[in-house]
Amino acid sequence: MSENNEIKILLTEKEMPTHWYNIQADMPRQMDPPLNPVTGRPVGPDDLKAIFPLSLIGQEVSRERWIEIPEEVREIYRLWRPSPLMRARRLEKALDTPARIFYKYEGVSPAGSHKLNTAVPQAYFNKQEGIKRLTTETGAGQWGVALSQACNFFGLECTVYMVKVSYQQKPYRRSMMEIFGSRVFASPSRETAAGRKILQEDPDSPGSLGIAISEAVEDAAGRNDTNYALGSVLNHVLLHQTVIGLEAREQMAKAGYYPDVVIACCGGGSNFGGLAFPFAHDKITRGTGVRLVAVEPTACPTLTRGRFTYDFGDVAGLTPLLPMYTLGAAFMPPGIHAGGLRYHGDSPLVSRLVQDGIVEARAKNQLETFKSAILFARSEGIVPAPESAHAIAQVVDEALAAREAGEARTILFNLSGHGLLDLPSYDAYLAGQLKDYFLPEEALQKSLAGLPRVGK
Ligand SMILES: *Cc1c(COP(=O)(O)O)cnc(C)c1O
Repeated sequence: MSENNEIKILLTEKEMPTHWYNIQADMPRQMDPPLNPVTGRPVGPDDLKAIFPLSLIGQEVSRERWIEIPEEVREIYRLWRPSPLMRARRLEKALDTPARIFYKYEGVSPAGSHKLNTAVPQAYFNKQEGIKRLTTETGAGQWGVALSQACNFFGLECTVYMVKVSYQQKPYRRSMMEIFGSRVFASPSRETAAGRKILQEDPDSPGSLGIAISEAVEDAAGRNDTNYALGSVLNHVLLHQTVIGLEAREQMAKAGYYPDVVIACCGGGSNFGGLAFPFAHDKITRGTGVRLVAVEPTACPTLTRGRFTYDFGDVAGLTPLLPMYTLGAAFMPPGIHAGGLRYHGDSPLVSRLVQDGIVEARAKNQLETFKSAILFARSEGIVPAPESAHAIAQVVDEALAAREAGEARTILFNLSGHGLLDLPSYDAYLAGQLKDYFLPEEALQKSLAGLPRVGK
């Protein structure tokens, strides 16, 4: 293959993925099942039917390597896919590095982030099974926006429980959700028993994703016409996101390169898994040496300092117990501006791959991530989402290490979203008002002490 000097690499209609890649077909060790917290037994379809459609439950446990993307979903994907693969030549210059830096830009979606890749199929499969309304939680608001848009495309109602601190910090994301017809409540809210209980204990609770999930699940479980949709963590969500990595692998081949390292930020693991899993396939089945690096905040260091065990996905303990790295479901993350990375747990698939040494994890401080984001913006012209900035901080490290070693490494990272609705966070950074958070060991131990005693 000859070197291609293009800056922006796209795909033709014929080169577009027709199937999602299911890494469950290739996991080095079989996954432990989610457990029913009451019986301690593996959850079956019956446990999940109250809140998920059967098709998504099927995808959750499937070991088929390729799962077809329905034509109705592909038709909506065409509104923004393929997302461009960009060569960040100006960033390479700014860092004076021999490394080749590529990024996949998911901010071109109408939602401004990768989250629409799964919102669309989730709305589609629910609609197929006769569901009229979806509930969900949202942290920084990107997922709520994506699901609102997807529900709007398929004529479903949508109710969003938005973490209160984000509801206050990111008012324009609420506007976006309302434009697409959703109802939005600041969580903890008075709408649910879970919300009222938290408010009684702590009327000023800033909320957390774990609390908002409890509210959305409770709402969905109480109505037959309503299901729940989760924006990350679960296997079927990561499955849908693999369109990112499948396109990227094809685009990299067109550019004449294969990455030495693949990097993405990691909150619940969906944009990381989406980009990295097709490359993990190559690594597991063909032994390619590609490094896969998941980057999280030091303030919420799930993969780097959490424990791999069974834990609840939410605070009230309504969800099944998932085998994952966790900081404890009661963990209250500090109010860092990367709202999408403030989650106590992580995807079971990503967790298992970290445990098995296929995926590496790193943690970055808030100030370093904003510094890298500004460097990226001034080089490439795009303001990154504060979440994506964690990946960029790691890219900077890798590029500088390449310079040190005099190596022309090829780096691929996911620019999971733009930061144009996160400008107050940038204002705060530029005004010198942000600080680093380091999770003290005692706080971590205290939170881990509350883990449920179940499982192996
Ligand atoms: C939600 C979000 C994330 C974090 O979620 P993952 O499931 O870990 O991908 C990262 N970046 C952006 C832009 C997001 O909206």
